[in-house]
Amino acid sequence: MNKFDYDLFVIGGGSGGVRASRFSAYHGARVAVAENGPWGGTCVNVGCVPKKLFVYGSHFSEEFEDAAGFGWDLGGLNFDWPRLRDNKSREIERLNNAYINTLESAGVDLIEATATITGRNTVQAGDKEYRAKNILIATGGKPHVPEFPGKEFVITSNEAFYLEEFPKRALVVGGGYIAVEFAGIFQGLGAKTTLAYRGPLFLRGFDIGVREFVAEEIAKKHVDLRFNHDVKKISKNPDSSFLVEFDSGDKLETDLVMYATGRVPNTEDLGIDAVNLETRSNGAIVVNDQYETSVPGIYAIGDVTDRIQLTPVALAEAMCVARNLFQGADSRLDYADIPTAVFCQPNIGTVGCTEESATEKYDHVSIYESRFKPMKHTLSGRDEQTFMKLIVDSSSDRVVGVHMVGPDAGEIMQGVGIALKCGATKADFDTTIGIHPTSAEEFVSMREVRK
Ligand code: FAD
Ligand code: NDP
Repeated sequence: MNKFDYDLFVIGGGSGGVRASRFSAYHGARVAVAENGPWGGTCVNVGCVPKKLFVYGSHFSEEFEDAAGFGWDLGGLNFDWPRLRDNKSREIERLNNAYINTLESAGVDLIEATATITGRNTVQAGDKEYRAKNILIATGGKPHVPEFPGKEFVITSNEAFYLEEFPKRALVVGGGYIAVEFAGIFQGLGAKTTLAYRGPLFLRGFDIGVREFVAEEIAKKHVDLRFNHDVKKISKNPDSSFLVEFDSGDKLETDLVMYATGRVPNTEDLGIDAVNLETRSNGAIVVNDQYETSVPGIYAIGDVTDRIQLTPVALAEAMCVARNLFQGADSRLDYADIPTAVFCQPNIGTVGCTEESATEKYDHVSIYESRFKPMKHTLSGRDEQTFMKLIVDSSSDRVVGVHMVGPDAGEIMQGVGIALKCGATKADFDTTIGIHPTSAEEFVSMREVRK
């Protein structure tokens, strides 16, 4: 009789956990996955998917305005928040079921319970203890809101997806991916929106040109950007609105405050102390380059390890674990040049070095930069520009960073990411024939060095 119930017990049925379960089962492993929330995890339920649906929804307000220059007269426009919210929720439920079906048809046992590690090879889930040869932790993360008076009045992105009523005024606090994306969503759907960030310019870590350009474009859309603004206190007014007081002395009346001040690893109820798992100061689980934790046979992937919090990264890590454990592979992931998009409006798409990091890394870099009005806005009359930047290591001619702010920047950057992975040079970009008329053709047309 086999001494283990499973070859792999996965804790967490989100992006990483589902992919690892499915691929391990395909490779012949006996797999169980435990999930204590809706199947699909953050990305499907309160992340990438509903967020992108809301981004689409919020962009219609501009599309309607832009249509006039193309001859369309649209009257009687009305936005119905419950319809968008509930249609979105129906699509999420469909995806929840699709995840269940995919796992079941791969032969994975689904356990709907909180799973807690009780020993090196044992996991308690519901009222049963399971023996597993390997354990994979894929429990993701959750929003972090700092302590301050009035914290109880704020929501996070988790709640924003299910608001009973859509606010007339909204304040978003933070300056990362979620804050800029939701500022665009709230503003586009009709809330008078303020974004407050504690530092001098949001999107720290992105290329400086991108950060400055995005601030200009978002401000043009009438989002009230308040940099160097840290919330001191929030109180509730008799009419259920909120009074927000900032350190600077500024005040703001609003109907909703959403905090997007980062996320922390989800290790509650996980039993990490039972096996003395090594964690970093923020609770992130420490792993080696094959995702094994400090305890042999226990692995961790995705947001709970707090490396790069992106769904495709969690998926790639999951495949790595499945291949290494059940196909005898020795694979590792290359974290260089991971393309990413921020679905603010207009979108950011980026891959590789920023100008700052390239200048530190290479002796001499050449920068090519372009700003232009996209063709669509010659007739729409909208005052929106597109920004593109190529960063080239002058000695090898290799393109080491590409950045864009403009419509569909995320879609465009996926292909550019492949070029960078293949080691494309500026000469390769220059000899590539453009696709006309597109914005993307500018990437193969930039000839003048900015510096
Ligand atoms: P998760 O998907 O969070 O899954 C973890 C699962 O574990 C959860 O379902 C949780 O319920 C479960 N769990 C936790 N503890 C236990 C336990 N003890 N027992 C059983 N189950 C447990 N990334 C992108 O690439 N593109 C985007 O556009 C994007 N947009 C985002 C927008 C928002 C608002 C947010 C919050 C995130 C976004 N992300 C995006 C990030 C992306 O969602 C995460 O990087 C990804 O979901 C991480 O996957 P994971 O498997 O590590 O964790
Ligand atoms: P981020 O880490 O991207 O940004 C957090 C922001 O909050 C930063 O601007 C940070 O400021 C600020 N902040 C942190 N602590 C405080 C505090 N105590 N008071 C005030 N401000 C504070 O986190 P997000 O929550 O935006 O998103 C989490 C992750 O999810 C992202 O990093 C990304 O990996 C992923 N994600 C990906 C998306 C995509 O791919 N499109 C979309 C959404 C999320 P400072 O910079 O000064 O530290």
